[in-house]
Amino acid sequence: MVVMDFELNLSATEFLYFLDCPQKFRLYRILNPLPYKSDFIYSSNRTIAHYKKRGYKGKKYDGIKYHRFFETFHKEYAGFITNQIPPIEIQEDNVMLLYWVIQQEKYFEAKEECYWYPFEKEVRLMTEKQRGKIDCIELCENKNGLRVIDYKPTPDSNDNLSLLFYAKLFNDYRLEDTEEEKFDFEVLEVGCYYYEMGAKKIYDLTEENSLTFERILKNTQGKISNNEFFKNKNSCWNCGFKTICRIEISRR
Ligand code: SF4
Repeated sequence: MVVMDFELNLSATEFLYFLDCPQKFRLYRILNPLPYKSDFIYSSNRTIAHYKKRGYKGKKYDGIKYHRFFETFHKEYAGFITNQIPPIEIQEDNVMLLYWVIQQEKYFEAKEECYWYPFEKEVRLMTEKQRGKIDCIELCENKNGLRVIDYKPTPDSNDNLSLLFYAKLFNDYRLEDTEEEKFDFEVLEVGCYYYEMGAKKIYDLTEENSLTFERILKNTQGKISNNEFFKNKNSCWNCGFKTICRIEISRR
């Protein structure tokens, strides 16, 4: 596979696949070619039916359901957030209840309502070198800046890299010379909300972290450009591309 310069645009999934096993990235890209910018930006979120057709099971559906709940939460429940007892549909679901509790705490702690309401939700951005959908962007209190939040069921070893990926995507988007809507503030903090645990972890975005990440991303794109798609056998044990990878190897 030859990757042209304009195809060096990466999503967070593609970036992490390449770091895990370059062959995994290659197979994924063959199956999912780079979308046109307009298709990517304006495509709506995938439905449960879409994932069922692709053979996904259980947890993936929960992820879609909860992302929808988080996306509409502030609009749906702003009028009830000071109530002592949460609405019945929230009481019946532990993930929703944990989110209610954390949002209620945030509401009471916020100096103004603008620090409780998300600044943006489910925002799709595409720059020259990256693309992705950011789950939530919040205003940081006491700072002229923004915080990128990624919703995840539980922590995993790639959380930090994903957050740095989204922070760079957003900050580069602000600087790129386009005619599209621009944001006034840059990202200064990043964090994950782990919805099965009801816990969040927030970090400052340091210059050192940003520069280190920039080097990793550039290095990755350089290797893709040079067709360095070696196979990392250490990652085979939990790879979803095993079958197609085996067929590929047998055809050579
Ligand atoms: S099966 Fe192994 S070598 Fe093949 S893509 Fe997956 S991780 Fe890479």
